[in-house]
Amino acid sequence: MADCIFCKIVSKEIPSKVVYEDDDIMAFHDIEPQAPTHVIVIPKKHIQSIDHIYEEHKELLGHILLSIKNIAKELGLEDGYRVVNNCGELGGQTVNHIHFHLLGGRQLQWPPG
Ligand code: 5GP
Ligand code: ZN
Repeated sequence: MADCIFCKIVSKEIPSKVVYEDDDIMAFHDIEPQAPTHVIVIPKKHIQSIDHIYEEHKELLGHILLSIKNIAKELGLEDGYRVVNNCGELGGQTVNHIHFHLLGGRQLQWPPG
């Protein structure tokens, strides 16, 4: 997608601090971290949001969740962490390329507001 920030991160047009990458997904540190660890995990393929996922994406999404578990372990988040997806305008989504926030390294509060 031409004007998508995360597609540009995938193509390395925009630099990022990559923590994990394979053929299908990428994980990199958020530019404005909301916790000591704040990583963004995305599929390399442009999908707008959870509202735009279908049966064909089931394997990819399972792969993302398993990878989040492994990345959390790699980053030393064994005491717990939070995975967040913001979907659509009222959900607070600002980048329209589906992504999962992995947050940890401090006590997180609930509800987030
Ligand atoms: P959203 O609000 O859409 O759920 O989350 C988008 C996230 O992407 C925000 O936490 C924001 O800080 C992060 N972000 C936006 N632009 C960039 C960028 O150019 N590089 C990185 N690493 N993160 C970004
Ligand atoms: Zn994109």
